[in-house]
Amino acid sequence: MNQPGSTPAKDKEKTTKDYASYFQTTYQPPSLKDAKKRGKEQINIVKDFAVDEDLKKIGAGKKFYIRTYGCQMNEHDTEVMAGILSDMSYEATTDIMEADLILLNTCAIRENAENKVFGELGHLKPMKVENPDLLIGVCGCMSQEESVVNKLLKTYDQVDMIFGTHNIHRLPQIVKEAYFSKERVVEVWSKEGDIVENLPRVRKGNIKGWVNIMYGCDKFCTYCIVPYTRGKERSRRPEDIIEEVRHLARNGYQEVTLLGQNVNAYGKDFEDMEYGLGDLMDEIRKIDIPRVRFTTSHPRDFDDHLIEVLAKGGNLVEHIHLPVQHGNSDILKLMARKYTREHFLELAGKIKKAIPNASFTTDIIVGFPNETEEQFQDTLSLVKEVEFDAAYSFIYSPREGTPAAKMKDNVPLEVKKDRLQRLNAVLNEISLRKNQAYLDTVVEVLVEGESKKNPDVLSGHTASNKVVNFRGPKHLIGKIVKVHITDAKTWTLSGDLADEKAGVV
Ligand code: SF4
Repeated sequence: MNQPGSTPAKDKEKTTKDYASYFQTTYQPPSLKDAKKRGKEQINIVKDFAVDEDLKKIGAGKKFYIRTYGCQMNEHDTEVMAGILSDMSYEATTDIMEADLILLNTCAIRENAENKVFGELGHLKPMKVENPDLLIGVCGCMSQEESVVNKLLKTYDQVDMIFGTHNIHRLPQIVKEAYFSKERVVEVWSKEGDIVENLPRVRKGNIKGWVNIMYGCDKFCTYCIVPYTRGKERSRRPEDIIEEVRHLARNGYQEVTLLGQNVNAYGKDFEDMEYGLGDLMDEIRKIDIPRVRFTTSHPRDFDDHLIEVLAKGGNLVEHIHLPVQHGNSDILKLMARKYTREHFLELAGKIKKAIPNASFTTDIIVGFPNETEEQFQDTLSLVKEVEFDAAYSFIYSPREGTPAAKMKDNVPLEVKKDRLQRLNAVLNEISLRKNQAYLDTVVEVLVEGESKKNPDVLSGHTASNKVVNFRGPKHLIGKIVKVHITDAKTWTLSGDLADEKAGVV
């Protein structure tokens, strides 16, 4: 077993990273302090990933199940892990009870997301007792946190494997170690790994695809754990991204979402060229794929060139997710967001001017340390001024290891709840009003499947990211169709299939 706290073996003569020997000989608990350090070490781009011959059949006759928590980055990481396990001859199952290998791909963004994972591990314990050959792994952002790893090691002996967000490509070796040593395997690098380009993927569905354009985040907003769990910003080369988007287009995908924690910082780490998200989008818009989205943006890095390119339209959709987090400049400063209320409003105004039909969504936190009623009112007034189409609104809760966790969490819970309620009332009123503007218009909908509530109803999104439900034949799934809107609610639009020749808004 790899012992917690043992000293890493350092081969001083080696100049390149030797991950294999690192894995064999060491276990170092992940360290948020180390993860904060942004080394000058060059990120290598690796293109020779392959499952070792002796591991290609290790999963034959066995099934895997992956439960994913959190954001689209995690969903996409799950697709990669499914690809790797398939290359090891495992078969996917949607029934956790028949799985031989279970992975929980976790999220660290909020405490209740973490509690759900610990609860799930409790449920899995009887399965492990009944079937000691079952392998259970915890991966994703939670496993990058030292406190989580310590808790898992101390209390959850049903867990066989713990590995981090930088170690996904090591899954074959981790599984092998867990099988053959019958000991618990822990492999979490605090410092980011390389960019591995040729990892296999089993994508969820064949209508919408995710493409990572960069990894990590260097923004260090004071409430956020991501820069510690996902490492420093590192961008994929444009040619690799463009090839992946082309591949999806060739395979009939209708929509691609470019992913990163802070996509507007794309290219800032390139040392050999000046190339940013605007340049990338300008190339991707020439690819024959109907819709291209990107997420998540940071207002600070959202530049004029990107706005100019987005205004060209075509397959670049008019939906922009622009997290504001707060409407008061002093709180934004405490959050280390590195922009002011005025800067955000100016940016939103610029985008609206260049893309008049743009729809905006955002993320907002209420009850951040020291937030006064007056400062909260600034959030309400900003929301009214920008008129967001929708928002993810949250009550602030501290994340251990972040700078904000050291601030006094001094807004009482009752006050936080009240502010959230008042914010949501304003947001919902605006969402409904904006949706009502679609009444009696015809919109283009990418049909994604049956509605969750009623299998007789089809459901999809407009380019502006509105959910639309309508009745129609199932063969329309995967196609873009025209729908005449007859009903508008706060979260959804409904309508009837329209004539193909109908004009759209
Ligand atoms: S930009 Fe986003 S991911 Fe990065 S630290 Fe801020 S909130 Fe977290």
